[in-house]
Amino acid sequence: MSAENYASTMPHVMAVYGRSPLAFERGEGVRLYSTDGEVYLDCVAGIATNGLGHANPVLIEALTRQAHKLWHVSNIYKIPEQEALAKRLTDASFADVVFFANSGAEAVECALKTARKYHSANGSPERYEIIGFEGAFHGRTYATINAAGNESYIEGFGPRLPGYVQAKFGDWDDVRFKIGPNTAGVIIEPVQGEGGARSLSPAQMLELREICTQAGILLIYDEIQCGMGRSGKLYAYEWAPGAEPDIMTIAKALGGGFPIGACLATQEAARGMLVGAHGSTFGGNPLAMAVGIAAFDELAKPALLDHVNKVGNAMRQQLERLKEQYSDIVLDIRGKGLLIGIKLGPNNRDFMVMARDHKLLIAGGGDNCIRMLPPLNITLEEAEEAVQRLEMACKAMRNAAQA
Ligand SMILES: *Cc1c(COP(=O)(O)O)cnc(C)c1O
Repeated sequence: MSAENYASTMPHVMAVYGRSPLAFERGEGVRLYSTDGEVYLDCVAGIATNGLGHANPVLIEALTRQAHKLWHVSNIYKIPEQEALAKRLTDASFADVVFFANSGAEAVECALKTARKYHSANGSPERYEIIGFEGAFHGRTYATINAAGNESYIEGFGPRLPGYVQAKFGDWDDVRFKIGPNTAGVIIEPVQGEGGARSLSPAQMLELREICTQAGILLIYDEIQCGMGRSGKLYAYEWAPGAEPDIMTIAKALGGGFPIGACLATQEAARGMLVGAHGSTFGGNPLAMAVGIAAFDELAKPALLDHVNKVGNAMRQQLERLKEQYSDIVLDIRGKGLLIGIKLGPNNRDFMVMARDHKLLIAGGGDNCIRMLPPLNITLEEAEEAVQRLEMACKAMRNAAQA
């Protein structure tokens, strides 16, 4: 077995994705139904976008109701639905204001621009450098690949953008060393997604907050993957009271599967973002906002967040048992809530194929990890079933290795 690339089965589409040969025709909750009639347990959930599962009735209702009224109007007009979602987001967070985009990378673009503009508005335009971290993922635009610094995403696209610096994840001495007269801010995922589900401890987050405050630079959290309830709190930074950021990006589950991104900021951090400073054609359109409001009202329910912690803990316990039983295959269990990373002995891409053969869909990740990112409303029984399928994949993996 080796990593697959079935791009050639979609010859009219740019071959940038390593696609598995599956196609799906519909979904319901945590189940996906493939075009060839098979049923899969979905622990990818659109890569953490479908926080409320597939075909959620509340979201369908919100989408179809709005679809009959108004899809898109320009941001040259007032959009009441936009203010309604922004009010919800700011009431439930550190932030005072929100910019709406259509994707995660666009939200990060806005965050990076906001940080630079803040210093420029303060009379320090020389403060434009952003410190990012090894293992980070912030999206695929020029700025975001440079902010994350992953060589394989940057290579071949010309010179690196100036103004981006790389530090080691969790190594704050390295950050202190790299802060200088040109530093504008720091961007970090409180729980890394793609990088392999590594999470910062509350103590680490508090220390980083303190470093940024002392240096007069802005702290940006990228909660595009770990936010919107996935960590067991609405936002992962809530695990570290006192470590609130100045700017934060969210996307993925914010729209429950509908493309929405948002950049949240304090009034102070957004002081440079005045008329004309930024914009988006589609960002914050009424259709997206209607779905976003419905998704937010579900995701922010304390009962749902309790549920995430309960199911997340149960899965972790079961996975720890699996780790004892299959210590050659399961090396480490990471992450927070229902953002679960498993570092593997065997190749993670091979393991994903094996899991798929057992009708379990899981995501890959850096550091030879797989990620389990089920819908947040997955039941305890479904979660147990997911671990059972994972166990079958472990067993098959071991048998294959011994054969
Ligand atoms: C997915 C992701 C992004 C990029 O979002 P897109 O919608 O693909 O642009 C950025 N940051 C993190 C942490 C992500 O998980």
